[in-house]
Amino acid sequence: MEFFNFGCCNVTTLMICSGVAVLGLAAFRYFAIIGRSCNSKRRLDGKVAIVTGANTGIGKETALDLARRGARVILACRDEKKGKAAVSYVKEGSGSENVVIKKLDLASLASIRTFSSEILDEEDRIDILINNAGVMFTPYCLTEDGFEMQFGTNHLGHFLLTNLLLDKIKESAPSRIVTVSSLGHYFGSLDFNDMMWSKHYGSQKSYFRSKLANVMFARELGKRLEGTGVTTYSLHPGSINTELGRHLVAGWKAIFKPILYPISWLLAKTPTQGAQTTLHCAVSEEAEGITGKYWSNCSIAKPNKLALIDEDCKKLWEYSEQQVNL
Ligand code: NDP
Repeated sequence: MEFFNFGCCNVTTLMICSGVAVLGLAAFRYFAIIGRSCNSKRRLDGKVAIVTGANTGIGKETALDLARRGARVILACRDEKKGKAAVSYVKEGSGSENVVIKKLDLASLASIRTFSSEILDEEDRIDILINNAGVMFTPYCLTEDGFEMQFGTNHLGHFLLTNLLLDKIKESAPSRIVTVSSLGHYFGSLDFNDMMWSKHYGSQKSYFRSKLANVMFARELGKRLEGTGVTTYSLHPGSINTELGRHLVAGWKAIFKPILYPISWLLAKTPTQGAQTTLHCAVSEEAEGITGKYWSNCSIAKPNKLALIDEDCKKLWEYSEQQVNL
């Protein structure tokens, strides 16, 4: 009998503890991981938005939200097949027919130039440009033009794209340019003598550098556009369950697979949740008129202090201009 009571007590205690633990984890997930959402109800009828890397992940959900608000949305994707599937997804989810795919490979300056000249010919305006596409932790490889892949795609590709579209973005002001960076930028640094890692390549160091460059680019661009009505933003979207980890070494994936699901349930956002800070910067009234800042969790945040050195932001701009022949 004593044993039975003891057992009952144990079972009850266990159930209460499990309940408290599950509630605690859910609360942690809700407040610490998911965070704020873009709660702006702003409509975008008659506006044009471009989202790079919109065939999957954060970009696809960003495109869906913009289409729901009535914008004409251009999904700028390197893979036309995946891009077409995303167009169907966005059309279905938004009920809008004003959604198109355009081929853009950010690892090719020729592709960026072709994309931009077609957009300038075909579109009357560009109200929102979202520089979202990115690659992470790739093995050492080069873009078509010989740039290290992560720096070339994540930074230089978007740098050229933005500059080629800039006049039309200015004509459409008030307009916004949003560049998706990462928390990883805090670990980044620049070395103007070897920006492309010709020596001692590290896939993580290179990703972090490219994301630091995203923050510095948005800051310098914001300065250069002061008084034009075009505002710029860089941001960390959170940790999101997407395809971004595709270049992680297969061995690591195999080792972590059994624990990845519970970890990602607890620590990662869904792509829809991950799109919120991008959307907040792109459409919200709260972000209106604020330029050059770094955002996280739908709020202004403090970036890596290296990103606040104006001289280096300018130097990075000039270096990038030379690389892409602007
Ligand atoms: P995904 O890998 O799911 O999506 C990345 C997108 O970028 C894909 O559409 C991909 O196209 C596209 N892309 C890659 N290379 C090129 C290229 N050369 N030209 C055109 N498009 C290209 O990742 P996320 O949605 O997670 O990432 C979006 C952004 O968010 C990235 O900039 C990333 O650095 C940033 N970020 C993501 C975090 C996360 O936890 N997921 C955390 C912090 C930042 P394709 O499918 O053809 O490869």
